[in-house]
Amino acid sequence: AAPGVPELRVTGLTVRFAGLTALDDVSFTVRPGSVHAVIGPNGAGKSTCFNVLSGVYRATSGSVRLGGHELTGLPPHRIAGLGVARTFQNLALPPYATVSDTLMLGRHRLTRAGFLAAGLRLPSAAREEARHGARVREIAAFTGLEPYLDHPAGALPYGLQKLVELGRALCTEPRLLLLDEPVAGMTSAARRRTAALVAGIRDSLGISIVLVEHDMGVVMRLADEVTVLDFGRRIAGGAPEAVQRDPEVVRAYLGE
Ligand code: ADP
Ligand code: MG
Repeated sequence: AAPGVPELRVTGLTVRFAGLTALDDVSFTVRPGSVHAVIGPNGAGKSTCFNVLSGVYRATSGSVRLGGHELTGLPPHRIAGLGVARTFQNLALPPYATVSDTLMLGRHRLTRAGFLAAGLRLPSAAREEARHGARVREIAAFTGLEPYLDHPAGALPYGLQKLVELGRALCTEPRLLLLDEPVAGMTSAARRRTAALVAGIRDSLGISIVLVEHDMGVVMRLADEVTVLDFGRRIAGGAPEAVQRDPEVVRAYLGE
């Protein structure tokens, strides 16, 4: 793991909606610099888990600790400020912005000079903008988005739009990256490329990744550890090979 990348510890997490328990006393730990997959059939509570980790939903009970910080109860921008970035299961790109502008949006949380200095055209603002621009180009090269920097993001093929979303999250310099179904809807070649990129993010950036993904091949190849949810409960967890053979997991997936 890179220096300063904290452990994520989820303990007894419970989320109730009217008449429905979406997460029921779920616990798991994400080691710094590892890929931790959260899997389970539709409706198992995976997206709900992400929504709690990123502050979109409030936990009914339980705790989420990132290093020394308690995340439960914090609003999304405070959690983002602690270095947690997420991508969405369904795309949420601004329709007309270029790829370059969209990646630059990710730099927002890191901008010290702010709008006033930029509006006054202060030299400090220009320097800072140049620094962010250089980092955006680095991340574009790392993700393979460099040829598309001047294209409108919303007009790119679906697979590339998913990559822009991932690139934007990386531009926030996260310590913890939450990926909700990053290869869904991609061709098999694009799936392989994206899986390799996610492995590269872990291995060369050293950040932690929580991955929700339906593609078992991708999960088995990428994950250091797996947590399996079914109807909101954690039914299994551990190394991918062991989880794959777990009779409870097989039963949940076959829908017996
Ligand atoms: P998954 O991502 O694993 O498919 P979700 O976390 O989206 O599952 O959903 C878990 C359960 O919680 C489902 O039964 C879903 O209908 C319910 N749920 C999710 N979000 C809400 C909400 N905002 N209000 C009410 N029920 C919800
Ligand atoms: Mg979901």
